[in-house]
Amino acid sequence: MELKNYMEDFVLDKLDELIPHYPDYCWCDECKRDVAILALNHLPPKYISTEKGQILTRAECLGSQYDVEIVKQIAAAVAVVKEHPRHKTA
Ligand SMILES: [Zn+2]
Repeated sequence: MELKNYMEDFVLDKLDELIPHYPDYCWCDECKRDVAILALNHLPPKYISTEKGQILTRAECLGSQYDVEIVKQIAAAVAVVKEHPRHKTA
């Protein structure tokens, strides 16, 4: 049995979309991952079986009610990580 939390994909997709909106934020791998983790912890997991209809399910959910919530949680996560970045500042 293969399960996948596809909320993960949505958050990562949305993150890539939103990066240009935060030009002063550090988007190194570590900071990007921290934002994704923080946002995901505040969003409901959405599990699907990867065996069937993954693409369909993705398409269905994109532009859904989660869109607004995902953007909101990413914005909140950016604000938090920006204050407490874990990367090593050179
Ligand atoms: Zn960084």
